[in-house]
Amino acid sequence: MTFVFSPPPTSSVAVAGSTDRFPVRRIFCVGRNYVAHAREMGKDPERDPPFFFTKPADAAFDAGPSDHAEIPYPPETKNFHYEIELTVAIGKEGRNVSSEGALGLVYGYAVSIDLTRRDLQLEAREQGRPWDWGKAFDLSAAMGAIHPVDAVGHPKNGRIWLSVDKTIKQDSDISKLIWPVADIIAVTSRSVTLRPGDLIMTGTPEGVGPIEPGQLVEGGIDGLSVISLRVGGPA
Ligand code: MN
Repeated sequence: MTFVFSPPPTSSVAVAGSTDRFPVRRIFCVGRNYVAHAREMGKDPERDPPFFFTKPADAAFDAGPSDHAEIPYPPETKNFHYEIELTVAIGKEGRNVSSEGALGLVYGYAVSIDLTRRDLQLEAREQGRPWDWGKAFDLSAAMGAIHPVDAVGHPKNGRIWLSVDKTIKQDSDISKLIWPVADIIAVTSRSVTLRPGDLIMTGTPEGVGPIEPGQLVEGGIDGLSVISLRVGGPA
């Protein structure tokens, strides 16, 4: 069997302390998973069950910690936003897993930024249309190195922060996740079969905002490698 053209390379993310890379299969993202962020987006956090959107696997790119990534300012937006998030990297297959068994599927954890064309997302939201053009564009999933569970365990609390040009914009704690990692995995696995290579971006705390061309964005979560990227001019 031959393909009509060469298949695209496998999208992948760096693994901390290794030259091996984590192959990316799919990227699931959780919306409004911190109370204060749900409020800043104009929604009631008490009544909304978790919901999901996705990004293509090849939206993922390495960002930091030693060399910051350089990305162009994306097309078709005038309001390009950062969202710092804990990402869970899935290493084992699972379907309909319980919250108690969910963490057994995890390969590791990384700091990530859910890059968002906020104007396109809000326009879609208001019109009841899909969020894809706001969330699922090229280079929309900035990823720090993935730390294997063997090295860092399963972080349940710790500071999560993001700065723009060294000014802190987001500053919270992952213990404030409305739906913690085990619940998110369990809920996801009821709708799709999770497989090795899947990434789950678990949602952002309050303080989201715009990135202007030329600005340096940095972020971290206690115990994980920092992430950093600089946004250039339009592509
Ligand atoms: Mn997000």
